[in-house]
Amino acid sequence: MKKIKTKVYHITYSRDIGICSLYFWGCNIRCRICLLKKEAFDCHLPENRLRIYDPDYRSPRPRRFLSLKELCERLSNLTLKTTFLMGAEPLCDTALEDILEYLKQQKRSHISLLTNGFQLPPLALLDEVIFSIKAVSPDLHRNYTGFDNADILKNFRTINSAPGIRLYAETVFIPDYVDEGEVLKIAAFIASVDRELPFRIDAYLPIPGLPWRAPSVGEIESLTEKAKEILPRATCFYGDQGRTPLAYDIEKIF
Ligand code: SF4
Repeated sequence: MKKIKTKVYHITYSRDIGICSLYFWGCNIRCRICLLKKEAFDCHLPENRLRIYDPDYRSPRPRRFLSLKELCERLSNLTLKTTFLMGAEPLCDTALEDILEYLKQQKRSHISLLTNGFQLPPLALLDEVIFSIKAVSPDLHRNYTGFDNADILKNFRTINSAPGIRLYAETVFIPDYVDEGEVLKIAAFIASVDRELPFRIDAYLPIPGLPWRAPSVGEIESLTEKAKEILPRATCFYGDQGRTPLAYDIEKIF
């Protein structure tokens, strides 16, 4: 095993269903509303679950990163049906292809990548891509992330046409910023690529120090109904202050 550092700072796992999540640090864009400022660790863990609803809570930053050898050792005894690559942006890790090869060849895992789409992923080593589109209006995208979105939208089309990849789209609904009109524009863009793609609209979770509020349940549900007229597989997600029990237990591996 090569001695290489990774950007993996956190791992969680569900023994019930064999799902593992690897969290990578580092990103190639700079979202004003980056959720990692609020919570950088798995918010489904029992110890983290409620703290994201504390308006003043801000997540600590990761302090330690695994080497490739340490990562493989921690995963070696786990059955990995599906591995999610997430955190910040997994594509910023120069060890990513080594990790993917280990997951595919040694663990025979189905692999799902969560990405901002700024960079084209190594599609031959993936099964699924969950693509977060921040905005389609160029000025809003630049204001939100500090970067132009032309390549991102092009990458979305490329990934959709890649053989063997299941593509999912998602965005964050932020009233008075990425507002209803913009979310519907994002839906229209996705429909122009493929009207059958799944699209999840997440409710913004306020970050301390930023001016925007969370949408109400009524607002996001009404928006989702409008989005469904453009993309029939549109759904939404909003926090419930931790009231709904999780469908399965998860534990921290690192
Ligand atoms: S793409 Fe994700 S991790 Fe990167 S800055 Fe935006 S919200 Fe944060």
